[in-house]
Amino acid sequence: MSGGWAGSNRRAELPPDWYTVIRPSVLARDEYRCRQRSEGRVCGRPANQVDHIGDRANHRYENLQALCADCHALKSSQQGNAARWANRARRPPERHPGLH
Ligand SMILES: [Zn+2]
Repeated sequence: MSGGWAGSNRRAELPPDWYTVIRPSVLARDEYRCRQRSEGRVCGRPANQVDHIGDRANHRYENLQALCADCHALKSSQQGNAARWANRARRPPERHPGLH
């Protein structure tokens, strides 16, 4: 702890017990099977990854799911694309109605 961590640690915001408690608990809860659903079907392959379903800063169990490596990689790349498009599409003209 050198005190120089402010602002430089943005990509790893996992809690200290992520690898020791949270991650194994989610994998066990999901029986080490990938919970990725696409078109109504669950992937179901052996999972060794834990993914945030929604908000990446929300580490509650209901926001976490087990994923296989393939689905995790796929989801990550889709999120990248989605974020890129969202930045373009989601820019309503009156985002701050009170600030005119
Ligand atoms: Zn999968």
